[in-house]
Amino acid sequence: QLNYRHGFHAGNVADVFKHTMLLLLLEAMQKKDKPFLYLDTHAGRGQYDLLASEGEATGEWRDGIARLQDWPDAPAIVQTLLDDIRQLNRHRGQTALRYYPGSPWLAMQHLREQDRAVFCELQQTEYKTLQQYLAPFIRAEVEQRDGYQALKALLPPVEKRALVLIDPPFETEKDSWSALVKSLQEAHRRFATGVYTIWYPVKAQSEARRFHRLLKDSGIRRIAYAELTTFEDVANVGLNGSGMIIVNPPYQLDQQLAEVMPAMWRRLSERGAGKFEQGVIVGE
Ligand code: SAM
Repeated sequence: QLNYRHGFHAGNVADVFKHTMLLLLLEAMQKKDKPFLYLDTHAGRGQYDLLASEGEATGEWRDGIARLQDWPDAPAIVQTLLDDIRQLNRHRGQTALRYYPGSPWLAMQHLREQDRAVFCELQQTEYKTLQQYLAPFIRAEVEQRDGYQALKALLPPVEKRALVLIDPPFETEKDSWSALVKSLQEAHRRFATGVYTIWYPVKAQSEARRFHRLLKDSGIRRIAYAELTTFEDVANVGLNGSGMIIVNPPYQLDQQLAEVMPAMWRRLSERGAGKFEQGVIVGE
């Protein structure tokens, strides 16, 4: 049974953090002309109407993307995200912010002619909707399949280069910390040079650190993390923020994050609660 609906969370603090990271990683992959595969294991529906019932029910986007809008000196990569969002809204006949892009839509705005994308989405209506939105893009393949299975089936890619986004709903046993690490290990065994990024919720920092320790013991090298929280670390009150694991982080990603994320955190954290933090879980 799949209950998770991303519509409730689209454009929230975690989403804008994740999508800014995604844009940085896509940009880094394109420093070389050689083609790569973009694999999105948990793709979602591709576009979200923030004013529809789901978005309005939580209003989470009001503390996320709504705060990044109209930011004249936003870092360049955030400007890129804001431009993509403006373009999506124009495309749908809106002058103000109403639609928020999912990772597949964002990725397709930036992939080059030589690149290729595969999107996995298990939930029927989300899959159908995504298929519709991506119909104009010939280099995008949308599959209704388990994203973890796809890691085994689609790696290594013929291109020998890939960026893999693993963005689970943390809903079933397959999305548990240990199962996630196992899936990553299997993918990495098949394809050790891929750039993998995993989104994860930060409810309590201690829980996130346990996840880091599992990764540390995984045998995989070159693992970095970045976390952005906008609430104090009080265990079990809900989501304080989120983190991203990056396996094989591109050259100078840490410097880029150091330039972008503290400014983004200041913009997003209402009363200065939480923080931006990054570090290395396993080195070279
Ligand atoms: N990556 C999307 C984005 O950034 O716009 C959001 C994805 S959302 C957090 C997770 C999605 O995974 C949901 O749409 C859910 O239906 C889907 N899903 C759940 N289990 C899955 C699985 N095993 N394989 C593929 N998709 C799955």
